[in-house]
Amino acid sequence: MPSDTSANLYDLTRPALGALLSGWGFGPYHRDQLWTALYRRHATTFDELDGLKPELLRMLREHTRLGQLATHHESFSSDGFTHKLLLRLDDGQTIETVLMRFKGRATVCISTQAGCAMGCVFCATGQMGLSRHLTPGEIVGQILHVNRILRASGETLRNVVLMGMGEPLHNYEHTMSAVDVLVDALGLAMGPRFITLSTVGVVPGIRRLADEERPIHLAVSLHGATDAERAALVPAGRRWPLDELMDACRYYSEKRRRRIFFEWTLISGRNDTAEHAHTLGQLLRGMDAHVNVIPLNPTVGYDGGPSRPESVRAFQDVLASYDVPSTVRQRRGIDIDAGCGQLKATVERRSRRSLPTSA
Ligand code: SAH
Ligand code: SF4
Repeated sequence: MPSDTSANLYDLTRPALGALLSGWGFGPYHRDQLWTALYRRHATTFDELDGLKPELLRMLREHTRLGQLATHHESFSSDGFTHKLLLRLDDGQTIETVLMRFKGRATVCISTQAGCAMGCVFCATGQMGLSRHLTPGEIVGQILHVNRILRASGETLRNVVLMGMGEPLHNYEHTMSAVDVLVDALGLAMGPRFITLSTVGVVPGIRRLADEERPIHLAVSLHGATDAERAALVPAGRRWPLDELMDACRYYSEKRRRRIFFEWTLISGRNDTAEHAHTLGQLLRGMDAHVNVIPLNPTVGYDGGPSRPESVRAFQDVLASYDVPSTVRQRRGIDIDAGCGQLKATVERRSRRSLPTSA
C-alpha cells in the first residue's frame, strides 16, 4: 500500500506523468493509456485502471495514489440552480466548490487555496486568512468531483471559473499545472476559452500569464478606482497600486489580444455612487474591458450591505457613457451562503456551537 506521502497521480501534468513512468521504463504509449484511463474514467481506485500492463499497475499501486476529495457538507439553493459543496482534503482542510446549472450549461466555481492571504475586508475567505495552497490534484479533483455528479444526470461541464476560495496567482505554479491538466486534449479536453481566472490584481502573475501560452480568460477584481479607496477594501492594492496594475492589464490585453473582465463588488454607499462610476469609467475608457458588477453578499465580518437596484442601474449608466460595457452578476444561491468562503464560515460557526452538520 502506498503511504499518504506517495505521489497523487492527479497532481501530475501529462509530461510529468511521462517522466515518472519513463523512470520505471515505460514509454509514451503507456503514459497516454494511463492518462486516458484517469481522466476519461475519473478513476478513484486502481481497480478502475484495467487494461494497463500488470507491471505498470503494480508500480502504480506501490508508489502512487489516486487522490480524491470527500464531501464534508453540501447544500442546494431554493431555486435549484446552485449546489454548494464543502470538500474535505486529506489533511482535514475544507474548501468550497460551487456547481451552477443554468439552462443545461453547467459552470463550476473552484478554489485554489484553503483560505486566502489577501485580506479583502468584505470577503469571508479573506476574513479567515490563508491555511495553505492547494496542490494541482486538489484543484483538478474539484472538477472530477463535480463531473461525477453531472454524469449521474447525463450533464456535462461547460465553464470553469477560478473564483472560489483563494488567490490563484498567489498559487501560480499549482494553478497553471491544474489548468494544463484540464485542457489536455487526451483527458478532460476542456476549452481554454471556457476557463476564467479571477485575480485580486497580483501584478507579476498577470505579466507572467501574458507571457505564457494559455488562452484562458482573465478577470481582475478592482472594487475601487483610486488607490486610497481600493486599498481600504483590498489591502493588496497597497502592494500593487493601480498604475502598476493597469499597466499589467494593458500589457496582458495587448500581448494576448483579449478582453479583460473587471469585477466590482457594489457596496452601498462605499463604492456605488455616480462619482465612483465616473472614476471607474475614466480608468477603463479606451480599454478592451468589460465590468461585472456584483452586489455585495453580506458577510459576518463586514458591516457593509449590497447596493440598491436603482444604484446598480445608475452605476451601469455612467459606465456606458464612457463606452464601458457592464453586466450585473447576481450571486446565485445567496440562501446557501454561495459567496466566496461563506459556506465554510457558516459550517465552522455551527460546529463551534456543537450543532451537527449533515454529510
Ligand atoms: N481571489 C480572487 C478570486 C476569488 S474571489 C479574486 O479576488 O478575484 C472572486 C470574486 O468574488 C472577487 O471579485 C471577489 O472580490 C468577490 N467577492 C468576494 N467576497 C464577496 C462578497 N461577500 N460579495 C460579493 N463579491 C465577493
Ligand atoms: Fe482572497 Fe479574492 Fe477573497 Fe480577496 S476576494 S480575500 S483575493 S479570495
